[in-house]
Amino acid sequence: MAEKYDLIIRNATLRSNEKVDIAVAGGKIAAIAPRIEAKAASEVDAAGNLVTESFVNTHLHLCKVYTLMMMDEEALKDYHGADMGKAMTAIEAAMKVKEKYDEKWIIKNVRKAAALAGRYGCTHIRAFADVDSKARLEGVKALLKARDEFKGIVDIQVVAFAQDGLAREPGAEKLMREAMKLGCDVVGGIPWIEYTDADIAEHVRICFQIAKEFDKPVSMLVDDAGDNGLRSIEVMALETIKTGWQGRSLAHHARAMSLYPKPYLQKLAHLLKQAGMGLVSDPHTGPLHARVRELQEENVLVCLGQDDISDAYYPYGRNNMLEVAFLNSHLLWYTTREDMETLYDMVTKNAAKCIGVEDYGLKVGATANLVVLDQPNVLEALRFHEAPKIVVSHGKVVDQLKMDLIYKENS
Ligand SMILES: [Zn+2]
Repeated sequence: MAEKYDLIIRNATLRSNEKVDIAVAGGKIAAIAPRIEAKAASEVDAAGNLVTESFVNTHLHLCKVYTLMMMDEEALKDYHGADMGKAMTAIEAAMKVKEKYDEKWIIKNVRKAAALAGRYGCTHIRAFADVDSKARLEGVKALLKARDEFKGIVDIQVVAFAQDGLAREPGAEKLMREAMKLGCDVVGGIPWIEYTDADIAEHVRICFQIAKEFDKPVSMLVDDAGDNGLRSIEVMALETIKTGWQGRSLAHHARAMSLYPKPYLQKLAHLLKQAGMGLVSDPHTGPLHARVRELQEENVLVCLGQDDISDAYYPYGRNNMLEVAFLNSHLLWYTTREDMETLYDMVTKNAAKCIGVEDYGLKVGATANLVVLDQPNVLEALRFHEAPKIVVSHGKVVDQLKMDLIYKENS
């Protein structure tokens, strides 16, 4: 007789502290009960430890991962070269790497980062691929390939990202449409880097225009500098409402927000809610960050992202969202038990909502994307921020040894 379930996780502790068994069948969570008598093809013992939804990374510059190492090499080479002047800045170095963009080497770095995601129970990533005259569509092609390779283990949403602007970068709009035609999932912009307010508005308008044409969500990096005059997030919110893109519009960074006067922040929070816009904050990758606590007090949807893995902007990172939550527990001063629960939501439920992951959640009928941790509660999970003991993606246990092998083979 065939077993009723494909998988049962026994002796699980939920975040509510309930002790349950969790049964999985056909990729879905089929039952959650104090004791499930039926047998399954495969059973795992959580040993009383925490079992939750899997982790979600809403923001990763996946085409740039591990380019820091190439930059060191580049910088060194140029330093020894006769025509080299002063040391390059991070951005100049990043641009130099981009001139060498080739799907062939990018894919190896992407595989490493995706394998780490599998290892650390991060089953969904919104991943940015630069689209501009230097990167062309090389990053896009590598990320689309990885999306296919990791399907069902780590779901990758590929963002066609106009990193160098649209108004100031000739040809970028055309390339963005080509990227969307290749199959990108999200339209990505960065309005604040344009030179004038008129160009910022034009950048936002073009992104939403492309999003409408391809019926896709929008993700934009807004106001990523220490200038309280930067308010492209407001322009984005207004365009979201105008386009009717509520719930499909996500803002990232908004570091300038840390300098906004309180009355303006309150107006903005109201506008973000009206626009159904979420916000991804990455306080660990820059000295300023969005006003996370105040926004949450106003019931704005906020989550955390990894942002970078070893590129010109941030040296560390390993797609371990528990580590990201741990770091930001300090940077945001989220240190009470209640704060820790919020942090955990910011790398699971809130994050899934921000990027529109369907059928997500630890509930019967949802897709079985789960992690079995080696700790009994959220405090201990954050303290150790270790890889889960078991990762379940789309109802199947992820082969963590294979993830390690992919990492090594592409290193
Ligand atoms: Zn970023």
